[in-house]
Amino acid sequence: MAEITRVGVIGAGQMGNGIAQVFAMKGVHVVMLDVNQEALGKGIGTIQKSLSKLVEKGKLEPHAMATSIAMITPTTDYALLKDRELVIEAATENLELKRKIFQQIDAAAPEGAILASNTSSISITTLAAGTKRPSKFIGMHFMNPVPLMQLVEVIRGLDTDDATYNAIMALATRLGKTPVACNDFPGFVSNRILLPMINEAIYALMEGVADAQSIDQIMKLGMNHPMGPLSLADLIGLDTCLAIMQVLHRDLGDSKYRPCPLLKKYVDAGHLGRKTGRGFYKYD
Ligand code: NAD
Repeated sequence: MAEITRVGVIGAGQMGNGIAQVFAMKGVHVVMLDVNQEALGKGIGTIQKSLSKLVEKGKLEPHAMATSIAMITPTTDYALLKDRELVIEAATENLELKRKIFQQIDAAAPEGAILASNTSSISITTLAAGTKRPSKFIGMHFMNPVPLMQLVEVIRGLDTDDATYNAIMALATRLGKTPVACNDFPGFVSNRILLPMINEAIYALMEGVADAQSIDQIMKLGMNHPMGPLSLADLIGLDTCLAIMQVLHRDLGDSKYRPCPLLKKYVDAGHLGRKTGRGFYKYD
């Protein structure tokens, strides 16, 4: 398969804008689509800030900042996907929403285009079955923050063909990332292991085992984790954490994945972590 040079990214949130940025920095043209202009404006602003930081650190030539930004076309119009070779969906973690989005992508993108989801936990096989091209459907799970994290977890659905798998493995490598493959089970490898730990940390907080700072410090200093689990939950987004636990609980059917009631309470209150300025910690 020829090198991919035109991609679409659905969702301009923290993952979508990060994915758009890493493609743009490699000279790949990106159509970045979201439901509203405000989200697109915020997404472009985040990319500009992230590129400026890379310039400050000497990791990016100043002129490359403008060329990277110029590679990204923000839009709310699915018609702009008509010439894309790959479309990666990175919208809110919700099965019904993603199903609807993939119907729109399937109708707008060329027949031969690969469709990928950046979902944290939802079945790739289920999402693929809702499109006319399950063999060209794959999970491409970037880590947060996308420009800094090395891993891309690549998930083969039941019907993903070898050409699609090989193209995505090659593309992730071209982005300077390390792709690691796994099979399609709830939460894949990364979130099947990470999220129960975060959920348990929230139970420890709820039961008064320790306060948030102490829980995080114990896991940082004791387990050599770069971030404590509650800080990490705030970074991921508490709505996303809850959505992932609900998928693990429902699809694996084991009570050990029961989402912590305190996590639910924070989400109900609209305290979603860094993105709303308040989660287990407060942010400016
Ligand atoms: P986010 O809340 O920051 O952004 C979600 C974006 O999706 C928003 O900009 C929203 O406007 C947009 N959106 C909602 N409905 C849409 C629609 N119908 N069409 C187009 N855009 C729509 O969420 P995020 O953290 O960027 O997560 C996005 C996806 O990436 C989720 O599936 C999540 O599970 C996954 N993911 C998240 C992380 C993380 O650490 N947050 C890591 C890996 C994967």
